[in-house]
Amino acid sequence: MKKSIQVKIHCFSCMISISFCIHYFLHLVFPFFIALCFFRKEYIKVYLIFLASMLVDLDHLFANPVFDPNRCSIGFHPLHSIYAIIIYVLMLFLPKPYRIVAIALLFHMFTDSFDWFLHLRGL
Ligand SMILES: [Zn+2]
Repeated sequence: MKKSIQVKIHCFSCMISISFCIHYFLHLVFPFFIALCFFRKEYIKVYLIFLASMLVDLDHLFANPVFDPNRCSIGFHPLHSIYAIIIYVLMLFLPKPYRIVAIALLFHMFTDSFDWFLHLRGL
């Protein structure tokens, strides 16, 4: 049986992994630049909507265990399911505040997916 070896790369010479840094950069910092670039007139409001979109992670509270580093949230938790993602895509066709919420939620799903991709790569 072939056994895969995963090496976690850490940054800042501490125990924080690269994927952890990328994950929270995409959740907390990158949305600021999205808001600034694409919604310049109301970038603070849009940034706050992006931050509020992280409330979808409250669906993790229904899981047991609540946090499992070896579990992909996409497709597992109700607000991260394919049905929820389809609703988020349909929300793109609604007027502005809802469209921005949809963009924020879809970006959240992208971030969680990318995090899982990095996890599978051992990063
Ligand atoms: Zn999430």
